[in-house]
Amino acid sequence: MAIAFGLFGLMVGSFLNVLILRWGERSLSGRSACMACGKQLRWYDLMPILSWVFLRGRCRMCGSRISIQYPLVEAATGALFASVALVPLPLGFLYQLAFCAIMALLVAIFVYDLYYAIIPDAWVWTFNALALLLVFVSPLQATHSIDSGQASFWLPALLAGPLAALPLFVIWASSALRGLPFGAWMGFGDIKLALGIGWLLGPALGLFSILLAFVIGAVISVPLVLFSSDRWRRFVEEFTPTAVSRRLAWQFTMKSEIPFGPFLILSCITIWFLSMYNLDPLRIFGLSL
Ligand SMILES: [Zn+2]
Repeated sequence: MAIAFGLFGLMVGSFLNVLILRWGERSLSGRSACMACGKQLRWYDLMPILSWVFLRGRCRMCGSRISIQYPLVEAATGALFASVALVPLPLGFLYQLAFCAIMALLVAIFVYDLYYAIIPDAWVWTFNALALLLVFVSPLQATHSIDSGQASFWLPALLAGPLAALPLFVIWASSALRGLPFGAWMGFGDIKLALGIGWLLGPALGLFSILLAFVIGAVISVPLVLFSSDRWRRFVEEFTPTAVSRRLAWQFTMKSEIPFGPFLILSCITIWFLSMYNLDPLRIFGLSL
């Protein structure tokens, strides 16, 4: 079952690559072609992961580089789908499919936000709708509630979305207090994403997921900011005057904003899997109540 889900994930990942590349640009139908030479790709150039490895990341016709995004997205989607199939809870096939659909959406949002620092509305609202639907039917939610079916369970579960979105909304709005435009410190897309994360994980884990996203963000961003500083660049140029190391330093040059969506998604998927595998995320991170 896990192998079947993994292979299915590879194919879905391959489709996600096309979706990310063509979203808002052109239609999803039509054959894939090389971005550099425009020649149509054959079926054997489109095998998930394998084609990229055999071609060593280059186009068969013109030899130009093919982004490592393609095999990475395929591998990540395959691994996530296989992990859903391996969940010890007896989920049932429909839930497994729903969970895989959510994983696929999160992978697509992750990559798109990383590239363009924007989250497509259609994707995030589909994710939110699925997460809200699961509040009502998920066996996972029921196992975490004290008395499922009671108002004491439904109300916190429904409020979990707005609750998780609230801290990000406060940050989004508070830049106005400093005379900056709304959203200078936090994108509105991140607030929408947090809504679904709250519904998916429940009130406690939802809020914890937002907190963990900030921690992951800090751990990853601080080195990025350091390595993109002028001082670091001068240091590298002075002490390692080779073309290779100079290129290394420049590669860390940062865009003006680091998107927050990928951190939210990393955190959400980690916590979601921990609870799916019956591991208490709060206890693992030393925060058990
Ligand atoms: Zn080519």
